[in-house]
Amino acid sequence: MGKQEDFVLRALEERDVRFVRLWFTDVLGFLKSVAVAPAELEGAFAEGIGFDGSAIEGFARVYEADMLAKPDPATFQILPWRGEGPSTARMFCDIVMPDGSPSYADPRHVLKRTLSKAAERGFTFYTHPEIEFYLFQDTPKAGVDPVPVDRSGYFDHTAQSMGADFRREAITMLESMGISVEFSHHEGGPGQQEIDLRYADALSTADNIMTFRTVIREVALGQGVWASFMPKPFTTHPGSGMHTHVSLFEGDQNAFYEAGAEYQLSKTGRQFIAGVLTHAQEISVVTNQWVNSYKRMMWGGEAPSYVCWGHNNRSAMVRVPMYKPLKGQSTRVEVRTLDAACNPYLAFAVILAAGMKGIEEGYELPREAEDDVWSLSERERTSLGIEPLPKSLHDAIKIAESSELLADTLGEHVFDYFLRNKRAEWDEYRGQVSAFERDRMLPVI
Ligand code: GLN
Ligand code: MG
Ligand code: MG
Ligand code: MG
Repeated sequence: MGKQEDFVLRALEERDVRFVRLWFTDVLGFLKSVAVAPAELEGAFAEGIGFDGSAIEGFARVYEADMLAKPDPATFQILPWRGEGPSTARMFCDIVMPDGSPSYADPRHVLKRTLSKAAERGFTFYTHPEIEFYLFQDTPKAGVDPVPVDRSGYFDHTAQSMGADFRREAITMLESMGISVEFSHHEGGPGQQEIDLRYADALSTADNIMTFRTVIREVALGQGVWASFMPKPFTTHPGSGMHTHVSLFEGDQNAFYEAGAEYQLSKTGRQFIAGVLTHAQEISVVTNQWVNSYKRMMWGGEAPSYVCWGHNNRSAMVRVPMYKPLKGQSTRVEVRTLDAACNPYLAFAVILAAGMKGIEEGYELPREAEDDVWSLSERERTSLGIEPLPKSLHDAIKIAESSELLADTLGEHVFDYFLRNKRAEWDEYRGQVSAFERDRMLPVI
């Protein structure tokens, strides 16, 4: 038993922990949890806790269903919303097969595998997500329009605002679980909030995002409201993105930073962006995985619709944030495609893989988009070489199907499962007769 495992076993006694939840994530990004008694943990560290993988989205075929969840002791935390003495703790798990090999279906493993490829080239990948979500007055009911908790907008500060109280409680809880928050504010839509996590290595960030979603939902329920990360809940209000600032470090040096270069952006940084742009369309099915995701990206509202990069241009898909003179080490690029309902493990893996491809192949960065690309005509965009992002889940699936980068990064099993699942979602969606059609047609024809 290692030091970290010992620490956990001691903490169980000291903090009077009666339940330990073992957390992992399915292929679509939903959190799964199994609670074990503290007495089971030594065995769990050594061998894992068995479960039926065939019952989890994307995990296994029925004839190879046995899988084990092996807790990662570095992720041990007490769950603050469950109260103290006795308390409840959680750890994220790696999923392994009965022979001890990592499960090919585990999104956490997909990310770890991609991170270790980058590590072989000397790079550590850091991410910092800006997570947006809506707060609604009630739990969702089928066929009923959701009502936001307020009518405020971007950065609004209003007395006794529900959003501010909500953010304070949520952030306090996140901080007590070791998740640092950098900024928070009201976002553009009514009831829409944003909370930005401090940058961390991508695996910790992905774990933190899973925890974040749970905390936000718990706090919302505690305050009698409903939180949702749905990418575009309203036709006429902005969607919820998860812009992610990314950087590569070599040891303690930021590999994207070069003093004196344009925007202080190194060649490595430029090639990384070029990789993300070149492969943006084929990885879109992962960064934006739902039918609804594509409605966010056609509306403006500072969500990208075109493959381009820019400096201080919020219509760009990748943005190089303003240079802070004394903070060379904070050079980073903001990828604005991701939405708040993606699977963070898979999304970070495909972004990293695309960027690394740019570095390995020495891609050239195209000219930056200086204009608001939404206001250009189709012809102007074409002449600038600016291509659209997929316009629907269907388009995204089509492009993804022939992507080598995606197949290599996700691995064959996740790649196949994921596309099969997405085709089924699209097929179900395209057969739906909507209010839009009825309202337009019944009165006239
Ligand atoms: N809500 C926008 C999106 O979906 C982002 C708005 C912003 O952060 N400026 O991407
Ligand atoms: Mg922001
Ligand atoms: Mg925002
Ligand atoms: Mg942003």
